[in-house]
Amino acid sequence: MLYVVATPIGNLKDMTLRAIETLKLADFIIAENPGHSAKLLRHYEIGNKKIFQFAEHNEHRALPTLIANLKSQTGALITDAGTPGISDPGFRLVRACVENGIKIAPIPGPSAAIAALSASGLATDRFLFLGFAPRTEIKLTRIISLGKAVESTVIFYESPFRIIKTLQFIAKHFPDCHAVVARELTKVYEEFLRGAPSEILEQLTKNRAKGEFAVLISFK
Ligand code: SAM
Repeated sequence: MLYVVATPIGNLKDMTLRAIETLKLADFIIAENPGHSAKLLRHYEIGNKKIFQFAEHNEHRALPTLIANLKSQTGALITDAGTPGISDPGFRLVRACVENGIKIAPIPGPSAAIAALSASGLATDRFLFLGFAPRTEIKLTRIISLGKAVESTVIFYESPFRIIKTLQFIAKHFPDCHAVVARELTKVYEEFLRGAPSEILEQLTKNRAKGEFAVLISFK
């Protein structure tokens, strides 16, 4: 069977007891980036295990071996951070398991989008998660308008290289929305910037456009 195991998004202590237990019990681990996950596995003394890579660049090549192994053994899927499959590799493996009659169980835990939403102060009753923000102004504004039309808080991930540009688009098209930028969640420099997009832009240009970001937009 396959366990889909969420791991911390920064703070190593955000690892659930079940996640540790599952990784210890699994016959093998499937990691997005085995080098990156080594620190986590060492920290929790998850002994020497066979680790297979399942990343965007090798998904198709890796699938047949993984499916063959999962038919007779237990595997645990992890990514570099957070919940596998959420803007991360995983979905194709899970779908292939479904198609091959392999049992799948989630081991829930951190995800940056949900952590950001939970502490944002924006409406949580309905939300639209975009994954990484569309890169073009037209696609971004179209999808945020959709979120506005269905009265949802819009959540997306953004890179430090694009955060300013993306907020400029939002300030231009939705100057009156409520925006929250959640930065470096669960880490030493965690912070929430809240306000109109233009106010957040002012704060961000003061040398804070570094790290990992989740952005939230609401109209109510
Ligand atoms: N699977 C992950 C999850 O469940 O959150 C998301 C992986 S996605 C490849 C990585 C993006 O998530 C980052 O570029 C950033 O936008 C967001 N992210 C991850 N960790 C974060 C953190 N600690 N604080 C804020 N955003 C974070």
